[in-house]
Amino acid sequence: MVPLPIFKLAGVTTAALTKITAVLLKARVSSDNRKLVQAELETLASVLFDKVEENGSLKAKVELLQAENAALQEQLATPRIQIPPSAPPEQAQRQQAQKSYAKILKGKAKRRPPPRHVSLVYPKFRETSSEEVKDTLIREVDLSKAKVGIKNIRKISKGRIAIECRSNKDLGKLLDEINANQKIADTLEAKLPVKKLPQVILYDIDRVVSKEQLLTKLTAENELDGNAIKVLFSIRARTQQKCHWVIEAQPQEFKRILKKGKLSFEWSRLSLREFVRPTRCYKCNEYGHISTKCVGKETCPKCGEEGHKGPDCVNQHKCIACTAANAKFQKGYDTGHPVTESNCPSYLQEMVELKKRINYAS
Ligand SMILES: [Zn+2]
Ligand SMILES: [Zn+2]
Ligand SMILES: [Zn+2]
Repeated sequence: MVPLPIFKLAGVTTAALTKITAVLLKARVSSDNRKLVQAELETLASVLFDKVEENGSLKAKVELLQAENAALQEQLATPRIQIPPSAPPEQAQRQQAQKSYAKILKGKAKRRPPPRHVSLVYPKFRETSSEEVKDTLIREVDLSKAKVGIKNIRKISKGRIAIECRSNKDLGKLLDEINANQKIADTLEAKLPVKKLPQVILYDIDRVVSKEQLLTKLTAENELDGNAIKVLFSIRARTQQKCHWVIEAQPQEFKRILKKGKLSFEWSRLSLREFVRPTRCYKCNEYGHISTKCVGKETCPKCGEEGHKGPDCVNQHKCIACTAANAKFQKGYDTGHPVTESNCPSYLQEMVELKKRINYAS
């Protein structure tokens, strides 16, 4: 192990002090003066120690921040955040024209997933697990008596479970049945999931533009309803002077914006896209939480191992998210790619799940 700078310094300083003391002893110096010189030297040494220690901790802090920064930038700059399509739109149209109408229509029909009728069951106490919630429900709620058809039931985070019904009618019955059941009223509660509003990313806006300016000008120049959109946050662009902004919109306004294809802003037309980004932890690289809530170990985004960072990786690529999904849910995903890959099966699956929770009001 490399000795810490402070220990190295301590060694050098002690040796110097011993030498100086020895010289002082040999020289014709009064013992009072000798003590004086020694005291001065010791003060100097302790000041030096303090500085080295301070320097060391600052360095560590800088390294940590740099790593954090690099990870965040990587997360934000990877293709998965939907950089505008490189192919010009005319080309895309031409490609589409080559497809048969049957195919196009089929594709269109596929794009809208059928509506889902989901209820979430929350435990009233934090420490209750999803397993316990599920067991209690199965034990106490008689679905056949309530005449409710269930499509599937699965455990999700924070001790909750999600129950999918066959129809909206069944969903209503299920909610009533659970919430009216006195035996479980103290421990469980059923609610409809809160759907998120769709988001749009606007590309390449001057960094100097403020959130307020952006909102005012966007609404004025594009006849948008200022109450139906909200500017959320900006992310780094490839060039220093620009950044991308993410906005949130009410379903109707979202549809209008996407239909426009571009938005006018000052003298330019902004490229845009729907923004869907699953939450991935840049520390452990798993999906579903952010690094500040992480209880896992720091792993390499390329090979999933601990102990080194992505840029230093020399191992074969192995996606930690796909490996985990295979182990947990027997997904059979290919794992020979970095977790940051834009066609990582786990990432695509997360996208699908995320989109199900977005309120498109179809
Ligand atoms: Zn984590
Ligand atoms: Zn690695
Ligand atoms: Zn993967």
